[in-house]
Amino acid sequence: MGDIIIVGAGVGGLTLGLALHQAGIPCRIFESVPEIKAVGVGINLLPHATKELAALGLEAELSKVAIQTTDATFFNRFGQLIYQEPLGRAAGYDHPQFSIHRADLQMALLEAFRTRAGADRLTTNCHCLGVTQDETGVAVSFSDGPGGANRFTMRGRAAIACDGIHSAIRKQFFPEEGEPRYSGVNMWRGVTRWKPILSGASMIRAGWLSHGKMVIYPIRAADSDGLQLINWVAEIETPNYRKRDWNRAGSLDDFIGPFADWHFDWLDVPALIRAADSVLEFPMVDQDPLPRWSFGRVTLLGDAAHPMVPRGSNGAGQSILDARALTVALAAHADPAAALASYEQQRLEATTRIVLTNRSNPPDAILREVFQRTNDRPFAAIDDVISRDELVALSEGYKRIAGYSKEALSKDASSKETLRAS
Ligand SMILES: Cc1cc2nc3c(=O)[nH]c(=O)nc-3n(C[C@H](O)[C@H](O)[C@H](O)COP(=O)(O)OP(=O)(O)OC[C@H]3O[C@@H](n4cnc5c(N)ncnc54)[C@H](O)[C@@H]3O)c2cc1C
Repeated sequence: MGDIIIVGAGVGGLTLGLALHQAGIPCRIFESVPEIKAVGVGINLLPHATKELAALGLEAELSKVAIQTTDATFFNRFGQLIYQEPLGRAAGYDHPQFSIHRADLQMALLEAFRTRAGADRLTTNCHCLGVTQDETGVAVSFSDGPGGANRFTMRGRAAIACDGIHSAIRKQFFPEEGEPRYSGVNMWRGVTRWKPILSGASMIRAGWLSHGKMVIYPIRAADSDGLQLINWVAEIETPNYRKRDWNRAGSLDDFIGPFADWHFDWLDVPALIRAADSVLEFPMVDQDPLPRWSFGRVTLLGDAAHPMVPRGSNGAGQSILDARALTVALAAHADPAAALASYEQQRLEATTRIVLTNRSNPPDAILREVFQRTNDRPFAAIDDVISRDELVALSEGYKRIAGYSKEALSKDASSKETLRAS
């Protein structure tokens, strides 16, 4: 019957490989880079995604390397507390919110896939160039790395593009689309070894994009010196940006200005930034939602399908939810084209809403609201600016759209049974 060919061994591709393996559906993963290395910085996984990872038997493993995030805490740029709410298990969810180094997550998925499915089921140095198909299957063409001279073709039952925001297969189906769309916000990201901040498991958002916004959260437990690895992101509205490259080094002088006087009693922000191990620079980009992902036996998944601006902690999580939905569809339909169409039907509209809401009303809309109502000035009491009910409504509205309200998750059936192929 042939393998499902997965293009790309990022979070989406590896999770799909694990889910297909669990369902007894044979697959192979082909990844462009010669060696999967620890790249990137922090990622958050919300309870809808950690629920799926738990169903894959990975919760205990991930708990060893991730922080179980306990609260979301919002401040203005004067360091005044606007709003705080519990997250993950602390909020009563059955599953945690994890804040984790992307590399720790990818390595845990990689290790699990190699152990369970077999190391020979994942091949690196295979850069996808495109795909063709007929009634019997797909033929995916590769070179040995980007621009590599050696070309070869792999045949399979279906092909799933998990090759990220610059997906070769997405480009094949949508050649006119052009480069990712710049949001007007540039980001500088880094990690710093630092003593625990606030609860030691807080997801902190502060300031606003026009004058400089910071997102700060720990991604590894304290070391023997009592220092955690703290992930931080400085986000500033600017017309100036350079094409996204996950490894582009950033320069402190380009962004530290707006944060120079952020000396708060709960954190000295410029000191945290200056103490970083390294700084990376990425533009905040996404793409307009597509009208379709599935073309017969070929479909898109994760960032290849729905790249979104990282303002709702949902990029990695939605790729995990895609992987689960696609596995369920492939287990339910003997005809792969029918399975891929059913997966698209389940996931395209849901992720379109998130892509668009991340542009307009992500969780940090709380910061925008207070920024506008105070005219960017310190307040005497937050209740004079915005009521607790309004703050809760802003936060809960996003959870409903992104599919992780407590209500939605408790209604959802247990994942594991549905993954078994019939
Ligand atoms: C190197 C890197 C660093 C990142 N760092 C962060 C971060 O710090 N924080 C954050 O929130 N998000 C980060 N992301 C994005 C984040 O991982 C995704 O938004 C999210 O996890 C969805 O994952 P995905 O599997 O759809 O895409 P990705 O995680 O982007 O994975 C795509 C995979 O496909 C491979 N690939 C690309 N083109 C081809 C091709 N033509 N043929 C074969 N394989 C191909 C890539 O090498 C990669 O392994 C990073 C992505 C990458 C690739």
